[in-house]
Amino acid sequence: ADWPSTGLIEFENLELAYASHPDRLIIDGISLRIEGGEKIGVVGRTGSGKSTLMDALFRIIEAKRGAILIDGQDIASIGLKKLRLSIQMIPQSPTLFDGTIRSNMDQLSKKSDTELWESLKRVGMHEYVSQLTEKLDSKVSEDGVNLSAGQRQLLCLAKVLLDKSKILIMDEATSSVDAESDKLIQNAIATQFVNATVLSVAHRLNTIAAFDKVLVLDNGKVAEFDSPYVL
Ligand code: ATP
Ligand code: MG
Repeated sequence: ADWPSTGLIEFENLELAYASHPDRLIIDGISLRIEGGEKIGVVGRTGSGKSTLMDALFRIIEAKRGAILIDGQDIASIGLKKLRLSIQMIPQSPTLFDGTIRSNMDQLSKKSDTELWESLKRVGMHEYVSQLTEKLDSKVSEDGVNLSAGQRQLLCLAKVLLDKSKILIMDEATSSVDAESDKLIQNAIATQFVNATVLSVAHRLNTIAAFDKVLVLDNGKVAEFDSPYVL
């Protein structure tokens, strides 16, 4: 029940390809060891494979060869549901479920209103939601047309802040929010996930110095993996 307990992530000769182009390796033989609790910034040019690599941790794309091990266990052997409840991920373009603000934040209906509002406050969304007539029970749709791209990201972040996990993956999680919200969120994440392994695809260079290591991807291969001071 306590998997993962340390948050160690190992990529072993990982190869990833999309089903539409099975011979084109988007991730081309990556081997890396990320210790539990390390904060990793992931950078690289557009199309270098950053999102694909992050998605593989959630098994949105499955390994073609090689493996991803978490706490020594191949994630291919772990049930999808368990995997996705055990690590937290904010994708590059969060999609919402047809439902309400509440159901999108708390799919298992385990949280109190106080907890939900507290979390919305931490990402700066509570004023907006409190202005809506139906508040937490306001409808949102799958394509999220009634929320801006930034608000969708904030809602997804508010959801992540409701739980602690040993692994957090963020793929440009704050790319559509303003600098002030970004700072608020970075602080909230740093506090709450102080002991967790955090992989963060980042495009703002000023946030890179906050990482233990930076992973530079180039055309599906590791170009660098080192402390930001060395790079
Ligand atoms: P960005 O900085 O723009 O987010 P990225 O580094 O995250 O880029 P990926 O989204 O991982 O890059 O894409 C890597 C490569 O995989 C690209 O060449 C892209 O065309 C291809 N790709 C991404 N998603 C798919 C998909 N669903 N089907 C087929 N090819 C895909
Ligand atoms: Mg991407």
